[in-house]
Amino acid sequence: MDFTLTEEQRAIRDLAREFAQKEITPYASEWDRTHEFPAHVYEKMGAQGLMGLPFPEEYGGAGADAIATALAIEEISKADGSIGLTYAAHMGLGAAPIFLFGNAQQKREWFAPLAQGKGLGALSLTEPSGGSDLAGSVKTAARLDGDEWVLNGSKLYVTSGKVARSIIVLCRTESNQGHRGLSLIIVPHDAPGLVIGKLESKMGLHTSLTTQVFFEECRVPRENLLGERGAGFRYTMQVLDGGRIGIGAMALGLGEAALDASLKYAQERHAFGKPIADFQAIQHMIADSAMELQAARLLIYKAAVLKDAGKKFSIEAAQAKLFATEASDRACWKAIQIHGGAGYLTDFPVERYYRDNRLLLIGEGTSEVQRMIIARDLLANAV
Ligand SMILES: Cc1cc2nc3c(=O)[nH]c(=O)nc-3n(C[C@H](O)[C@H](O)[C@H](O)COP(=O)(O)OP(=O)(O)OC[C@H]3O[C@@H](n4cnc5c(N)ncnc54)[C@H](O)[C@@H]3O)c2cc1C
Repeated sequence: MDFTLTEEQRAIRDLAREFAQKEITPYASEWDRTHEFPAHVYEKMGAQGLMGLPFPEEYGGAGADAIATALAIEEISKADGSIGLTYAAHMGLGAAPIFLFGNAQQKREWFAPLAQGKGLGALSLTEPSGGSDLAGSVKTAARLDGDEWVLNGSKLYVTSGKVARSIIVLCRTESNQGHRGLSLIIVPHDAPGLVIGKLESKMGLHTSLTTQVFFEECRVPRENLLGERGAGFRYTMQVLDGGRIGIGAMALGLGEAALDASLKYAQERHAFGKPIADFQAIQHMIADSAMELQAARLLIYKAAVLKDAGKKFSIEAAQAKLFATEASDRACWKAIQIHGGAGYLTDFPVERYYRDNRLLLIGEGTSEVQRMIIARDLLANAV
């Protein structure tokens, strides 16, 4: 497969890179320290056409392909993991389901503003009873009352839930029907009975807002059901396939940032009378990180190419997400090692990359779940 970037892909990568270097990189450490949510950055990204990158121009998107979208997520995440996650979740989780499964009216009212960067989107799947086994653990229920859905239940860890224009909620519309009883419903931020809980305190990703969400007789119009009733689980799996390319790209950005910092520090820092870059042990760490990140990039691009071609890409997305997040974890670990004691201090960015990347081995399906998906497919097709 030829992975030479097209002119358009390069242009989008350069746009995102220049934006990130100017508007994000200089402030990322400070935002990480203060936990300040940089709302203005998303407004500026919207003005640049970045918030609706993969969506058609008729809705205000940029019509970019999946590789270009991954490149943009990589560049933004390289500057700041929190903004990378907010950005990837907005497009891949908050906006994509409405684009994929919404009707014309829903696309006009709920999708277009997200594609145009006039607000952030969120997707709420995980509950206190678990996130890996969604079919078994989703208890949030929605019942029809006249022309309204009435939701009751609680959700955990909703990225951007506090600030989102709309939250898509996976809920049970039919009891006793397992995963076939689940549906997706669009809940506007001002829906009566929607209660946003406390902001979670996290080890990293400090300016990505993670909240609990409660539904207390929460009422939304009947027409906010997304797609078919009872198809929510199937839709969710499809959305997560796409989201996993985004998480892989995010990890790639953080891993690349860690590698860049390692290269710089290894040449500046001296020990035993020479730069530490001269030591073979340091060179091996750098070489391994570069090689693994390159392999991650190719897996991400392969999944993206299949997605754009309209082919099945679930396994490739799982492989890309799994490999990229774990490769970045190792690259960030090595970056701290190469920095020695300085790597453990907040004066240098590598400990932030390490903390921010750690979530990526958990969110949108843990590493264990990705291995389960990959192995199940292999076993099902084994002769
Ligand atoms: C910062 C952050 C942001 C998030 N954003 C969102 C969001 O926007 N929307 C949303 O819905 N959720 C979100 N999540 C939730 C996230 O997707 C879940 O935490 C994740 O899917 C894991 O679910 P869990 O935490 O319930 O772990 P569990 O499902 O309880 O898993 C616990 C452990 O058991 C393992 N395990 C479970 N089942 C198996 C199995 N079959 N085989 C082997 N091992 C298994 C898991 O791999 C894990 O190691 C977010 C979480 C965080 C921390």
